[in-house]
Amino acid sequence: MARIYNFSAGPAILPEEVLKEAAEEMLDYRGSGMSVMEMSHRSKLYDTLLKEAEADLRELMEIPDNYKVLFLQGGASQQFAMIPMNLMKNGKADYIVTGQWAKKAYEEAAKYGTAVKLASSEDETYAYIPDCSDLPVSEDADYVYICENNTIYGTKYKKLPNTKGKVLVSDVSSCFLSEPVNVSDYGVIFGGVQKNVGPAGVVIVIIREDLITEEVLPGTPTMLQYKIHADHGSLYNTPPTYGIYICGKVFQWLKKMGGLSAIQKINQEKAAILYEYLDSSRLFKGTVRKEDRSLMNVPFLIGNMELEDKFIKEAKAAGLENLKGHRSVGGMRASIYNAMPIEGVRALVSFMKKFEEENLAE
Ligand SMILES: *Cc1c(COP(=O)(O)O)cnc(C)c1O
Repeated sequence: MARIYNFSAGPAILPEEVLKEAAEEMLDYRGSGMSVMEMSHRSKLYDTLLKEAEADLRELMEIPDNYKVLFLQGGASQQFAMIPMNLMKNGKADYIVTGQWAKKAYEEAAKYGTAVKLASSEDETYAYIPDCSDLPVSEDADYVYICENNTIYGTKYKKLPNTKGKVLVSDVSSCFLSEPVNVSDYGVIFGGVQKNVGPAGVVIVIIREDLITEEVLPGTPTMLQYKIHADHGSLYNTPPTYGIYICGKVFQWLKKMGGLSAIQKINQEKAAILYEYLDSSRLFKGTVRKEDRSLMNVPFLIGNMELEDKFIKEAKAAGLENLKGHRSVGGMRASIYNAMPIEGVRALVSFMKKFEEENLAE
């Protein structure tokens, strides 16, 4: 059995240790004689598992007591509707559009109220993060919305926007648990876990308690009300039980690695290897403004589609897979999430160097 280096943007690489543990427990979880997949979500054993997962996440992110942690379904995309349905009390929200995911959220919100495009980087194919230090935030905005790490374009907010006192809502799908965060700076932090935390099927919402109310837009389905899920401790209906179990294992893995400051250091080290090479390469070039570069998703180009196809093909043959860029950017993208070992990044860069030598003269 040979594992590849998987640079997919999501669903994405998971820690090998976690997968091995899950394999060992597949038929018999902690002496229960069954798999977690087969277990009632109302059982004592599952309740313990869920509570441990939440406690570990709270510890990792230092989540204050006045925030709820919800394990939900529907992916990050369902939050694009759930957020306005639950939070648009004045019927207005401001959106900073830094990529396709933010744009989708903005367009969805416009179905439920007035969505204001506060700033955008669409003019340069989202290759930068706009200056958000003094934006004309709407006086009656219920919240300001951002996508903190732009998976497709490889940009990341290095400084949160000045929301002028308004609630900040952030999609962290592709930077979840990649570095320490100050949860109190946000009203809502949410992310689909399939990028950096676990298998597809779970979305985690961290939400300040005062934002969880019964006052939601008329017609909001029960399943799309934060209050229902908060009141039932994420057990209103059957949660994505197995996915949460894997997330819990990833939380424990992160704790063993030394927590979020430790993983941030490793992530910085990994990204630096790739960016330093891109800055010195005569064949490849990065697509993002330097100060806005993501530590997680690294898009790069050759600028010659034929050579790019050749690169992706030969990389795959060398065990470096899923390097094709998103169709809206083209070129290549290496997603180097928490679980990507530094050896994977080194292997990618030495492959790129070799490819550069072989193809530059042509
Ligand atoms: C992948 C992604 C999404 C969409 O996630 P789904 O779980 O497929 O709905 C939303 N936002 C960001 C930043 C993403 O990377």
